[in-house]
Amino acid sequence: VPDRITVQEADLPQGTVEIVTIGDELLLGHTIDTNAAFLSRELGQLGFRVIRRCTVPDAEAEIANAVHAALERAQVVICTGGLGPTQDDVTRAAVASLFGVQLDVNAELLAQLEARYRLRGIPMPARNVTQAQVPRGALVLPNPRGTAPGLVLVRGDQRHCVLLPGVPHELRGLTREQLIPYLVGLAEKTAQAAHPIRYRVLRTTGIAESAVAEKVDHLLTKLLPLTVAFLPGFAGTDLRLTCWGDLPELEADRSLDSAANQVRQVLSDHIYGEGDDELAAVVGGLLRARGQRVTIAESCTGGLLGKLLSDAPGASDYFEGGVIAYSNSLKHSQLGVATATLQQHGAVSEAAVREMAQGARLLAGSAAAIAITGIAGPTGATPDKPLGTVWIAACLNEQTQTRRIVFPGDREEIRERAAQAGLALLWRLLRLRADAAPTTETRIPR
Ligand code: ATP
Ligand code: MG
Repeated sequence: VPDRITVQEADLPQGTVEIVTIGDELLLGHTIDTNAAFLSRELGQLGFRVIRRCTVPDAEAEIANAVHAALERAQVVICTGGLGPTQDDVTRAAVASLFGVQLDVNAELLAQLEARYRLRGIPMPARNVTQAQVPRGALVLPNPRGTAPGLVLVRGDQRHCVLLPGVPHELRGLTREQLIPYLVGLAEKTAQAAHPIRYRVLRTTGIAESAVAEKVDHLLTKLLPLTVAFLPGFAGTDLRLTCWGDLPELEADRSLDSAANQVRQVLSDHIYGEGDDELAAVVGGLLRARGQRVTIAESCTGGLLGKLLSDAPGASDYFEGGVIAYSNSLKHSQLGVATATLQQHGAVSEAAVREMAQGARLLAGSAAAIAITGIAGPTGATPDKPLGTVWIAACLNEQTQTRRIVFPGDREEIRERAAQAGLALLWRLLRLRADAAPTTETRIPR
């Protein structure tokens, strides 16, 4: 659209990003805009400069105006939301008309959508066809987690407009798997870096971000020109090591290897994987390799741990299932937690979680078990059991380990952190290969 180009390519504001989040619910305050914060954090750590963010309603004119203005200032404009199939989802149409291009139905996307619905055994609603529409010339970023893919439109002056779905977990997945590699490639091309930018992510669990930073601190100058970024999340703190194009590719890989090794030396007890590795899948892999299975007992996480353990395909190799024992009576009747234990110590106690884990293990005769009980709030706290108090137990063969953690955050955050901590405790046991030294295993009367 030549008439919209007001800045010469030479003036391209290298590495700048603006974020436009779209949705009435954001403006009404019903939904907190976590997408913008997430994108800022992720892109900032990579060296992009987020120079402005704004939120607009689900209205074509507002979206087009905001994107148009942002494209005058930034190299990349990222929009989230409004890619769904309902009447209020108008982002695709707004941006296509801003770019002066038509929307075409993409046959491949349509086939994928139809297949998704076929799998679910329901006919695809006619209006979902909009989700297979692609502005002519746009690049499609596949979204395996949902129905709307990401889209990238490029203007003649190399300004980029990226459209991402609003659903937070889809946005996070697309950003990490598709958008970041794309933008890194773009930065290489437009910055004319001498060499490709390479990075590697190490994933930690069971250690606070500040403690990770402290342990790695003495390495930071030694690792130069590589940089280290700390990316905290519910799942733990990730470390991103980046080589910014000042080394040839082979050398960059070698120095990333060496940097990763040095970081592993100081954080070995906490690093469970690299890149997209998920702790649940790592735990599952260790169990599978040993020919063992895990059974779980969940109270305050209400099934979240089971969800995580069953996320990976093939989870039936190692995941037996479990009991969501929210009430005391189910803790007793299904898991064999002694009534006396519940009366004397309460459901959020070491004794209770230990009996829950051992009960879960006996239920299926599995080698491993995880149990979680806690106070996710906002009510239920007491002076000696503050909000966020969670007891976790993991069993492996005759060994049982317990841990008490007081998590920060709201209900959702506490539950997510608790589920991850449960996995981390079993992961630690599996790594120790602790088949020896049974602790105070007690047979539970059933
Ligand atoms: P869908 O296909 O589900 O309609 P979409 O791309 O149209 O996806 P929206 O309809 O805008 O996205 O939002 C989907 C969900 O994601 C809603 O629950 C919404 O509250 C949430 N959401 C949207 N934008 C944000 C945001 N910026 N931060 C946090 N949550 C968001
Ligand atoms: Mg929608």
